Amino acid sequence: ASQRLASVSTAPPDSILGLTEAFLADTNPNKMNLSVGVYKDASGKTPILECVKEAERRLIDDESTKGYLGIDGLPAYREHVRQLVFGDRVEADRIAVLQSPGGTGALRVASDFLVTQLSPIRIWMSSPTWANHPAIFNAAGLPSDTYRYLGSDRTSFDVDAMIEDLDTKTSPGDAILLHACCHNPTGIDPTPDQWKQIAETVAMRQLLPLIDFAYQGFGDGLTEDTLGLYTLLDAVDEAIVCTSFSKNFGLYSERVGAVCLIAADAGAMKASQSQLKAIVRSNYSNPPRHGGAIVATVLDDAKLTDQWKGEVEQMRQRITRLRTDFVTTMKTTGQGHDFSFLLPQRGMFSFSGLTPMQVDQLKQKHGIYIVGSGRINVAGMSEEKMQQLCDAVAAVLES
Ligand code: PLP
Repeated sequence: ASQRLASVSTAPPDSILGLTEAFLADTNPNKMNLSVGVYKDASGKTPILECVKEAERRLIDDESTKGYLGIDGLPAYREHVRQLVFGDRVEADRIAVLQSPGGTGALRVASDFLVTQLSPIRIWMSSPTWANHPAIFNAAGLPSDTYRYLGSDRTSFDVDAMIEDLDTKTSPGDAILLHACCHNPTGIDPTPDQWKQIAETVAMRQLLPLIDFAYQGFGDGLTEDTLGLYTLLDAVDEAIVCTSFSKNFGLYSERVGAVCLIAADAGAMKASQSQLKAIVRSNYSNPPRHGGAIVATVLDDAKLTDQWKGEVEQMRQRITRLRTDFVTTMKTTGQGHDFSFLLPQRGMFSFSGLTPMQVDQLKQKHGIYIVGSGRINVAGMSEEKMQQLCDAVAAVLES
């Protein structure tokens, strides 16, 4: 029989998950993985939140069916997403919320929507951005291009360069990808004034914002982190927002997110909602129940909601503390190194400014794994290993 599969070539490994494979194989007893974007507590674990454990106990007792959800997911979950993300900022009848398998699933559904409903359309991404963004757009057949984001020092946001690119390169009707907060991979977010500038340009250039909101609560707080999003929504009538509870509920493997579409009026929302549902139906048909049910159970209950907010705040503060500790420790390590540019950065990641060669040395000589771009998962640092980390970084910088 002829072998059709013999001609299939091997796909390149995922750049970040591939690093974890190398990490697991490393026999260095002091090895440290600061590449993958998961939160870790002081004991190095990615914990299940207490509020989630309690919600799951209740679900085991009370859940009465594993029957299919609707194409757009659990109604209670969708309503909580709407309230949490949009509050009273946008009229409820202008927002369609569909529960999705994580933020990634939401981004894919949004991409399919842009391609099938609004083509020809191109999407503009910050350079750099999360590596999966271009991969998702590419898989959906959505043409993408980049706007400048980082200054030449690679440690600050160059808003003028971004605006210039939007002003001179985009066409009316193009989409623009924005990170609502905790920009991945840089950790560098626009200031409130810069958000205003961006929003004005987005409106003037008639761009459709696709807002990736994967880290609500990890920047300045659950409410505070909506600032950029609300500034945009004040300037435009239409947007798509992709949210995720992977990080702020620690529900990574449960795949819980939502794609939210905001239209100018209820009629336009309904039509787009029907198209989003058609896209879902022929893709994964309907979302998984468990993770959405956990979130709905927590947010349906005032006490559990308070507990959740407390747990998010703890994670947020721990990340901020680790970032500050790193900066402080670097100052007094080796010849002393000034990393104070990390302090305004937000979220799990920081761009360290380390070069690919220095990143490689950290891995080869010290068993410390960070992404080639110099992106460090701050949430993966620990107090216990802070000096060891800083010794290694200083050694690499001074070699
Ligand atoms: N968007 C960004 C910027 C992310 O960093 C991530 C996760 O790493 C996601 C979206 C999607 O996460 P998930 O699909 O796990 O919810």
